[in-house]
Amino acid sequence: MSDCIFCKIINGEIPSDKVYEDEHVYAFRDIEPQAPVHILVVPKEHVASVADISAENSHLAAKCLEAAAKIARTENLSSGYRVIANTGRDAGQTVFHLHFHLLGGAELPAMIVGDAV
Ligand code: AMP
Ligand code: ZN
Repeated sequence: MSDCIFCKIINGEIPSDKVYEDEHVYAFRDIEPQAPVHILVVPKEHVASVADISAENSHLAAKCLEAAAKIARTENLSSGYRVIANTGRDAGQTVFHLHFHLLGGAELPAMIVGDAV
């Protein structure tokens, strides 16, 4: 999608602090980290949100979670981490390109990421 900020990051139009890339997945550090490690794991193909996952594209979500587990190991998050996918307005989703927040590196507060109550 031409006006999607994460598509622009994936194709290099907008710079990012990349931590991982494979055929289906791109991962980079969040510009406003809310934990010592805060990485966004996204499919290279544009899918708007979890609400748009279907039988046809669910392998992309699986690839993202597989990558998240791999990245958690390389980032030494063996004591734990959180994976979050804000979905839709009420959950505080601000970028409508599917992404999984990978958060860790410290004991995490009960609520993190997004403004929803
Ligand atoms: P969400 O609110 O779940 O849609 O999360 C979107 C996330 O994207 C936020 O945590 C932002 O800080 C992050 N973000 C927005 N623009 C950029 C960017 N150019 N590079 C890295 N992270 C970004
Ligand atoms: Zn996109």
